[in-house]
Amino acid sequence: MRIVNAFSSSKPTVSFEFFPPKTDDGETLLWQAIKRLQDLQPDFVSITRTGEGTSATLRLTTRIQSELGIRSMSHLTCVHHTESEMAEHLDTLWAQGIENVLALRGDLEPGQSVPGGKFQYATDLVSFAANRHPFCIGVAGYPEGHPQCLNITRDIEHLKAKLDAGASYIITQLFFDNDDLFRWRDMLLKHGIDVPIVAGIMPITNVSQIKRFVTRCGAKIAHPLLVRLEAAEANPEEVIRIGQEHALAQVQGLVAGGISGLHFYTLNKSKATADVVRAWKATAH
Ligand SMILES: Cc1cc2nc3c(=O)[nH]c(=O)nc-3n(C[C@H](O)[C@H](O)[C@H](O)COP(=O)(O)OP(=O)(O)OC[C@H]3O[C@@H](n4cnc5c(N)ncnc54)[C@H](O)[C@@H]3O)c2cc1C
Repeated sequence: MRIVNAFSSSKPTVSFEFFPPKTDDGETLLWQAIKRLQDLQPDFVSITRTGEGTSATLRLTTRIQSELGIRSMSHLTCVHHTESEMAEHLDTLWAQGIENVLALRGDLEPGQSVPGGKFQYATDLVSFAANRHPFCIGVAGYPEGHPQCLNITRDIEHLKAKLDAGASYIITQLFFDNDDLFRWRDMLLKHGIDVPIVAGIMPITNVSQIKRFVTRCGAKIAHPLLVRLEAAEANPEEVIRIGQEHALAQVQGLVAGGISGLHFYTLNKSKATADVVRAWKATAH
């Protein structure tokens, strides 16, 4: 099933993101989390491409799809691969029944410049994958701008190039202020981009961890939220409560604003995400 066919105007899709664990214990915990989240009937799950390599992503994606019957999407990053490696990987995905992929450039090492060759930007991967097999392709979008882009309008032009190359929907970087998302969506419309937008949501559970994430990905935490989190830092349960309250308010606002999908960055855990999704469903009409 192609993810693009899951979007409807009546209700947003719900999806969960996982990463390939490094250890057997991590695998056991992940599998427990997936099974708990399966009760929430996600429209799809996605598996990131990490330093463990494409084979770890492939293994998890195919296992979830074949054993649990959940539509599974594989993240692909191109800067780490040659053309022939990527061709072989795409052929394997297609042969194993994975037709949904998220086409990404991948992060560069600090100080590393964009490599030469076939794959410099995600656009190159989108057109390569689309020409190889009829994948349903999603791409990343950045409501607050990609950290390496000099200008948000230029970033949106690059996003449009990815869609023109064959992608059909966008999943966003995590963000904590819905106004950033809605402002950006208006800008996309002005640039002729009118594809489904899936909002990336991360329920905050740990203050130092979220500070690390936002520093890396260029997102911002609004000052009042940051002040509340820092005041509660010594009390982990209170941090989780604040994080869930904020994520629930974000979800409710996004749904009211007509977002196409909600994509939860689970960090391979189930509780925070499940609590937010259940609370939202309980209050939804
Ligand atoms: C939903 C989501 C999932 C992710 N999953 C993973 C994952 O599984 N594994 C992983 O390693 N990383 C992942 N990332 C992180 C991602 O790899 C980084 O954000 C990376 O730095 C950019 O990837 P991209 O696909 O957005 O790149 P691109 O779309 O190529 O953009 C990268 C930068 O280059 C600029 N640019 C694009 N085209 C051009 C051009 N022609 N000329 C000049 N500049 C250009 C853009 O404006 C942007 O600043 C994910 C990010 C998101 C939002």
